[in-house]
Amino acid sequence: MKEKGGNRANLAQEGEENPFHLLFLWGAGRSSHKSPLFSILAANFLRVNDLKDTLLFDIAMTNKTQMKQEDDFEANLAGDEGQSEETKSGWFKRIKKGITTSTAEKKETPEGLWTKCPNCNYICTVTELRENLFVCPKCNHHHRIGSSEYFEILFNDGEYEVLFENIRSKDFLHFTDLKSYQKRLEETWAKTDITDSIRVAAGNVKDHHMVIGCMDFEFIGGSLGSVMGERISRAADYCLEHRAPLLIICKSGGARMMESAFSLMQLAKVSGKLSQLTDARIPYISLLTDPSFGGISASFGMLGDLNIAEPGALIGFAGPRVIKETIKKDLPEGFQRSEFLLEHGFLDFIVNRKELKDKISTLMTLFKG
Ligand SMILES: [Zn+2]
Repeated sequence: MKEKGGNRANLAQEGEENPFHLLFLWGAGRSSHKSPLFSILAANFLRVNDLKDTLLFDIAMTNKTQMKQEDDFEANLAGDEGQSEETKSGWFKRIKKGITTSTAEKKETPEGLWTKCPNCNYICTVTELRENLFVCPKCNHHHRIGSSEYFEILFNDGEYEVLFENIRSKDFLHFTDLKSYQKRLEETWAKTDITDSIRVAAGNVKDHHMVIGCMDFEFIGGSLGSVMGERISRAADYCLEHRAPLLIICKSGGARMMESAFSLMQLAKVSGKLSQLTDARIPYISLLTDPSFGGISASFGMLGDLNIAEPGALIGFAGPRVIKETIKKDLPEGFQRSEFLLEHGFLDFIVNRKELKDKISTLMTLFKG
């Protein structure tokens, strides 16, 4: 390097006569900005004797810079950029592994994010959709929402008390499909703050103290497991104790395969508990939302004093594809949609999400009367 440095010094001395020498030296000093073309142009204005040395110097500098950049890139990947071997373990050291921020503390989706209606392709912002209670402003498509949103919509000022959160699922059958049930549960708990496929909350809906159980589809497809059964039956006990009406918002694919017969036992257990409510003359309303299938629609989903549904919700026992393949016939238009079920006497009425709170409150007043 000393020799090259010498060359540079010589050039500086000799370049005083020619303004392009200075220009070239500036370029060489800032090696990341110079280009070979620039060097050649500048070199054309130097004496021929200098040309060889200039190009050699230029190439050496370029190689050195490239090597350093490659080293930096590798060091950056390894996460110890700019550190010598001795100091790599110092400074910043990750003590806890993974992301420790809980979902509730995470920042909300930034405003101004756009969303598209799956039914009519209408594009609007998430904020606009939220203000419209997640109903498409153009085609009235009811987007799927979770328990937090329903509680927010129904309870006065969004104030409610969540009950029975301490009951958790266990892998007592040691069931393994693609992964073990225990692992699946732990992964779901880590991803969300939802502890099982139903959340039960008590609060005021207008003038009425009510208990609402709402399923979350994102927790293993809102499937009915032993925890859901237990939470509903305890909710029924709470209703009996406080003489509060019960509303269950269904959104489920059916019974939970991983709990096998234990899931199916919940059907009888919940049905028994609901009959206790009937005996105590406490109203139970079942609201079916998109989708409500399998064990849910075969039991407490259809056992309400009133069975109501959201518009366009898919409700049934087996899915339309299975039925079509079994009976080998095309299904009628709108089959298993709430409008179709209303027409065929399975539902009492269909309610828009915007009118839900008013309707529930009116119903409770009528039941009391
Ligand atoms: Zn739409």
